[in-house]
Amino acid sequence: MNFDSSPIAAIATAPGRGGIGIVRISGKDLSSVITAVCGPNKPLQPRQATYLGFLNGDGSIIDKGLAIHFKAPHSYTGEDVLELQGHGGPVVLQMLLTRCLQAGEGIGLRMAQPGEFTHRAFLNDKLDLAQAEAVADLIEASTEAAAKSASESLSGAFSKTIHDLVERVTRLRMLVEATLDFPEEEIDFLQQSDARGQLDAIREALQQVFKQSAQGALLRDGLNIVLAGQPNVGKSSLLNALAGNDVAIVTPIAGTTRDKVIETIQIEGIPINIIDTAGIRGASDATDEVERIGIARTWSAVDKADVIVHMLDASRGPTREDEEIVARFPLNVPVIRIWNKIDLSGHKPAIDRMPDATHIYLSAADLSGTDLLRSELLRLVGWQQTGESLYLARERHLIALKSAHDHLEMAAQHAAHDSEASAPALDLFAEELRLAQERLSSITGEFTSDDLLGVIFSRFCIGK
Ligand code: GDP
Ligand code: ZN
Repeated sequence: MNFDSSPIAAIATAPGRGGIGIVRISGKDLSSVITAVCGPNKPLQPRQATYLGFLNGDGSIIDKGLAIHFKAPHSYTGEDVLELQGHGGPVVLQMLLTRCLQAGEGIGLRMAQPGEFTHRAFLNDKLDLAQAEAVADLIEASTEAAAKSASESLSGAFSKTIHDLVERVTRLRMLVEATLDFPEEEIDFLQQSDARGQLDAIREALQQVFKQSAQGALLRDGLNIVLAGQPNVGKSSLLNALAGNDVAIVTPIAGTTRDKVIETIQIEGIPINIIDTAGIRGASDATDEVERIGIARTWSAVDKADVIVHMLDASRGPTREDEEIVARFPLNVPVIRIWNKIDLSGHKPAIDRMPDATHIYLSAADLSGTDLLRSELLRLVGWQQTGESLYLARERHLIALKSAHDHLEMAAQHAAHDSEASAPALDLFAEELRLAQERLSSITGEFTSDDLLGVIFSRFCIGK
């Protein structure tokens, strides 16, 4: 990634056609670009929308719309920001962007990289790292619960919790370090200051944050399941049954689905990404190249799934194709075998955990037994409904929290060595606190490498 500080420009709205499209520019001083594109006659009042024509180099008008100048430091990035809101057509927006780049040649204006606006906001202390990540999470949220949680993180709820922990660890550490200079006082220090009690309270608080983060991570990542089964066993009906009123799923005509179709439904706010492998067949049955490629892709999705849901018609039983498919299931992915249409077969709704698979008997038509599947899916992701607020944590945050927790554990062990034989190792105690503090601070970005920043911001979309 290129993190030079030259001014940057991008189309900030999603590709495609829309009512409004926005070109956004950020840089230290944009006055020359503003004059060139918005004309010299209408000075822009900071943070006020001005309706005007966006000017080409020859004075002709590219489009008319609103220009807003956010003067540094009162902008998203902390730099001068110019937003040009025109009509949302791909060609007209590209023309406007090209014009801006040309007008900004003199000041080194270039195309923005993915996430570069937010990266600047981070560098200029507009956001900490956890908040910057929440920006991407909010844009990518696939359920309301995830969006709500991301929005809370963006306004700083998660960061504040982390800061509070860091502060408590820091205060305790300063206390311990102060006594290090007076070795004769070490022994009663732990009693007098109740350092152990404080440490225990911090550990408990950290554990709580970890729990809320681990549950929140489920809202982000959800569960990837592959739905396999022969045509007409009821896959589409089941998807509709699980989704409730959330999504309407169109039933593809049997045998025409050549590639996998991903549907996301939600169960208690957890995204469940379902790859519908309508009629996966052995590649030998495929009649043409396109179908063969589709089948190969489907199998690679099967290999990466968290759970395979294999659906059968309970009133008919398995077919030869089912046996072929089952033989190819990867060994390390859990399987739920659904026996559908029990309204026809006469089975009772049931769940049966067998060594080969968890068998569930249900009817997608009259919904009996579908709650068994729902709770089994939630059990597999480790979801517990607690009613606490959740932090939409990333893997990176969970690792940092876990590591901080381990260091506090070590600190507790050092504090415990205060028998007659061995005095408490206060220097080691302090050192573990320092390490815990460092791990926690990495979440909000106080101790982070450029490499990590590169990885985080490069996953953003362009223009954000
Ligand atoms: P898919 O090809 O596997 O997606 O199967 P569909 O969901 O399109 O269902 C195939 C047919 O089976 C449709 O006519 C459904 O109405 C019917 N069907 C699906 N589930 C059930 C069920 O639980 N009971 C009964 N009686 N019919 C069902
Ligand atoms: Zn179907």
